[in-house]
Order: sequence, then structure tokens, then C-alpha cells
Amino acid sequence: MPLALRVVQSLSEAAGILAADSRTTLLSGGTLVMRDVNEGRLTDGTLLRVTDPAWRQIQVSGTRIELGAGATMAAILASRELGFLHAAARAVGGPAIRNMATIGGNLFAAAPYGDFAVALLALDAQVMVLAGYGSPRAVPIEEFLAGRSRGEARLVASVQFNRPVAPGDFRFLKVSRVKPKGLSVLSIAAHLPGHASRIGQARVAYGAMGPLPVRARGVERALEGKALDANGIAAARAAALEGVQPVTDAIASDWYRREVLPVHLGRLLANQS
Ligand SMILES: Cc1cc2nc3c(=O)[nH]c(=O)nc-3n(C[C@H](O)[C@H](O)[C@H](O)COP(=O)(O)OP(=O)(O)OC[C@H]3O[C@@H](n4cnc5c(N)ncnc54)[C@H](O)[C@@H]3O)c2cc1C
Repeated sequence: MPLALRVVQSLSEAAGILAADSRTTLLSGGTLVMRDVNEGRLTDGTLLRVTDPAWRQIQVSGTRIELGAGATMAAILASRELGFLHAAARAVGGPAIRNMATIGGNLFAAAPYGDFAVALLALDAQVMVLAGYGSPRAVPIEEFLAGRSRGEARLVASVQFNRPVAPGDFRFLKVSRVKPKGLSVLSIAAHLPGHASRIGQARVAYGAMGPLPVRARGVERALEGKALDANGIAAARAAALEGVQPVTDAIASDWYRREVLPVHLGRLLANQS
């Protein structure tokens, strides 16, 4: 059976189709799906495209931000209100990829991809999931990522999170061997409330330091109540490797990733990245 293409208007119709047929694949920006098609890994079933404009919307109301899962990295970069996310959006591929690559697709991208998902993890995003006809259910991003490989989330409608209170509360860096658009040796996102005096309830996340984006819980604990001075940064660096299981791939070995992570974490916290 050849591949079929089906186009639907509404998100709930798409969610219903995806729930009913495991051989249907959602086609979002298509940067990964179409590569699978072109390279012969995806040869039958149905590709499903959604035209609902709400799926691509970006809404900022007060401190709450909602990004439609179909919004692209280019759309994030075009939004002045989302300046704190520009480094994370710019980390995804080159301009042609960013014109197509979506927020939703990035949540499903395997390491060393998934740079934007690392930022969403540090921002404690809620992932709005449609598992069939009905209303979206809010799933905390950590729970969402843990269940991702089980195929529980058939359709992500949007992601929601709060805007960091102060400029500089949110930081992101990506380390790659090829500039400016190589794949991640690692990425780090940090939400550092109170960074100007004493940190409270930091959330720090890593990409490519495991099969999924992971929280750096040791670093978060080490930073609690500390100033971002030499002592605070040294404590964070000492805890940098707690709980990580870096991948070995064509970009870097797990050993190399472990060696360089504390150095880049220190630079990010010192605002020298
Ligand atoms: C040359 C190249 C360079 C790249 N560089 C980077 C990089 O530097 N950093 C990086 O993070 N990524 C990179 N990528 C990977 C990819 O482009 C991004 O991760 C992108 O965000 C994927 O989004 P997409 O919309 O294209 O996903 P698609 O290809 O459309 O979909 C990918 C998967 O996610 C599923 N999916 C997509 N959206 C949803 C949704 N809303 N709900 C449920 N399932 C969904 C699809 O069904 C499919 O299984 C690169 C890819 C290429 C080809």
C-alpha cells in the first residue's frame, strides 16, 4: 500500500483519526517525517495534515504564554515578546529547517535533536494533549516526555508556561562542533528566578545528556538560596553530572559530554556563554 495524505481542518478531528488508526502519522513541519519518507523508512499508512490556524497561534496574555504546537521556530524568532526564547529557537537547524520545524515536532525529536524541548522543560511547561475527540488535557512536560515513547500522546495541541519575571532569569546555550547549525553536543536551559540576589526554585534542564531532555536536579538543589557568585557556581558545577546518562553518537562520546558539561554550565551561570 502506498502512503496516503489526508488533510483535515480541525484539531479534534485529527485527534480522533490518530486515536483510531495507529498507521496514521501526523505531519507537522515534516522535517523529520519527510526525511523518513524520502529515505524509505516510512513507506505505508497515512500522513495527516491539520490546517486549523489555531494550531499555529502564539498567544501572550499577561504572564501566561501559549504556543500552538504547529507554530514554527521562525514564528518564535519573529515575535519580539518571545525574545527570551530566541536563543532556543535559533538553536534548531539552519533557516530552512526553522521555517518548517514546529514546537510540537521538537517535543518528539530524539536526542541529539529536541533543543527547544529542553527550554520548555526548564520553563516547567504544560503540554496540552488531545488523545481523541474531546478537550485537551494538561500534562506536565516531564510526564509527557517520559510517556512519549509509549505513544500515549497522539496529538499535542499547544504548550503553556509562565514568562520568566526578569530579563536574565532565563538562559539557554547549545554546544555544537559545527557553527552555526550543527547538532548538539549538549544544550542547557536554566530558569533562575532571583538570579540578581539569591536563587529560589531554579529549574535547569539538559539536552543530549540522556535519551530524553532531563532535569539537572543536583544543580537545582545546589543553587537553592545561593547567589550566582563564584561559590554558587562552583556548587552547581560540582553537582552538574548527577543523574546524567549522556548518549554516545556521531557528534560526541558520553565521556566527552561528561567532561565538557560542567564547563559550559559554569559559563551559562556566569553569563559568559
Ligand atoms: C537537517 C536537519 C537539521 C536539524 N537540526 C536540528 C537541531 O539543530 N535541533 C533540533 O532540535 N532539531 C533539529 N532537527 C530536527 C527537527 O527539524 C526539529 O526537531 C523539528 O522541531 C521537528 O518538528 P517538525 O514539525 O518538522 O516535525 P515532523 O517531522 O512533522 O514530526 C516529527 C514527529 O513528531 C510527531 N509530531 C509532530 N508534531 C506533533 C504534534 N503536535 N502532536 C503529536 N505528534 C507530533 C510526528 O508525527 C512525527 O512522528 C533537524 C532536522 C534536520 C532534517
